[in-house]
Amino acid sequence: MIQLKSPREIDQMAVAGEMVALTFQAIQPLIVAGTLTVAIDEAVRDKVSDLGGKPLFLGYHGFPAHSCISVNDQVVHGIPGPRELLDGDLVSIDIGIGAGGFCGDSARSFLIGEGSKSSRRTLEVCREALAAGIAAATPGNTLVALVGAIEAKIRAANLGLVEKYVGHGIGREMHEEPQVPNFVTPSLKQSNLELRPGLVLAIEPMVNGGTGEVRTLDDGWTVVTCDSSVSAHCEHTVAVTEEGPRVLTLAPGEAWPPIPGTPGQ
Ligand code: MG
Ligand code: MG
Repeated sequence: MIQLKSPREIDQMAVAGEMVALTFQAIQPLIVAGTLTVAIDEAVRDKVSDLGGKPLFLGYHGFPAHSCISVNDQVVHGIPGPRELLDGDLVSIDIGIGAGGFCGDSARSFLIGEGSKSSRRTLEVCREALAAGIAAATPGNTLVALVGAIEAKIRAANLGLVEKYVGHGIGREMHEEPQVPNFVTPSLKQSNLELRPGLVLAIEPMVNGGTGEVRTLDDGWTVVTCDSSVSAHCEHTVAVTEEGPRVLTLAPGEAWPPIPGTPGQ
């Protein structure tokens, strides 16, 4: 069942969402060549603790860290560890925080240095796909239209659309109904869900530089591209409101659409 949120509940969700964004700001200086991904995860742990939030990923189905950090051909669910970030890496970081009984969930992707042409394009298209999805999160629109907007950006760029993983409703639970795939599925068409004020979604396209095919490594978590191409993942928690889409996972001073040059947004 889909749980619509009241305006007051959306304000409460924005508190959790802001914590996620503030955590991204806190780790920003570490997203450079030479940093071990475990050091970024430790900084996530410390910031979430300082903010008084709860890291939602730690222990989730046994996940062993506070954040998912996925580098280059890693798509999602990468486990932070002794891997050192190198110049040219494309790194995707996913953070979920609980606060005041609500959840915030956001992923941002970053290039270390200039990156390859393929990395730059993959990241740009992923950000554009997220922006298209968010722009479509307006009352009266349908979920098919929102998902179709994401899909159109990725297909037009002829990049790999990851079909296996989806966005989701979010609220008191991190994963609520409805599922938000990144391409229009028959069941999505059939449900023909109308977007109503109070619907809150984690919109999260994953875009590969090659094909959309992915597989999971033997660690049981890390999802990688089958063709070793790079992958980007961009996610915001977004409320449908009477006034239009409201992005909840922003820090003070951050805007949506992003101010050009805002790192990772
Ligand atoms: Mg996430
Ligand atoms: Mg999510």
